[in-house]
Amino acid sequence: CGIVGLIGLENVTEGLVNGLSHLEYRGYDSAGVYVDTPGAMSFTVKTKGRINDLREEIEKTGDVTGFRGIGHTRWATHGKPKTENAHPHTSYNGRFVLVHNGVIENFKEIKDNYINDEWLQGETDTEMIVHLVAKIAEEENLSAKDAFKKALTIVEGSYAFALADKEEPEVLYVAKNKSPLLVASGEDFNGVCSDALALIELTNQFVEINDKEMVTVTKEGIMIEDLAGQVQERKAIEFSITA
Ligand code: GLU
Repeated sequence: CGIVGLIGLENVTEGLVNGLSHLEYRGYDSAGVYVDTPGAMSFTVKTKGRINDLREEIEKTGDVTGFRGIGHTRWATHGKPKTENAHPHTSYNGRFVLVHNGVIENFKEIKDNYINDEWLQGETDTEMIVHLVAKIAEEENLSAKDAFKKALTIVEGSYAFALADKEEPEVLYVAKNKSPLLVASGEDFNGVCSDALALIELTNQFVEINDKEMVTVTKEGIMIEDLAGQVQERKAIEFSITA
């Protein structure tokens, strides 16, 4: 199980899939990616199986290119391994796309209190959260960032989340609690990953994220906040691979 995200490259797809292949050691049963480009096509490709199966699906789909993207290797905790349960998950209105590493402890309460059963495509705990963000954004007329932040105050459990809003194609939102997450800082791109191994071929600069922080990631920069909205200044650290 692991996540990876990239924003700002001419085409993020190869970087995402390569990144996922470096997270294989964490164990997984399914994998998927979402990529898009402002004003152009978006793609979600996911499958039960290995990274090579994902590569095959991507080739079958053809021309899966994008400026921004998120990827996931899944180790099923809620819902058996199958394509519908593979991440990324998309919200009922098609607006938000989410990958998640971890376990949502109160997903049942969230399901009962906020989620319309007709929205559900699979059985994962994660899927509740993408619908929850969409519902909060829609009903309370909040920006993606504020809706995500509000959803995070409701969610209990462990998570590394990466969220894409199709209405804001130049931003990725990420958040962490008790699951690993690093921000990767590149010269003309930025990224996120569960382990620096995923993106170390692209940059050696990484920013550590603490529990209960959320990060706004663009091609140009990153902004870290706690859930109360307090901005956190933090410098990148240079990572090196040692054998
Ligand atoms: N709990 C989520 C699921 O079962 C995420 C599992 C993971 O960390 O890969 O889909």
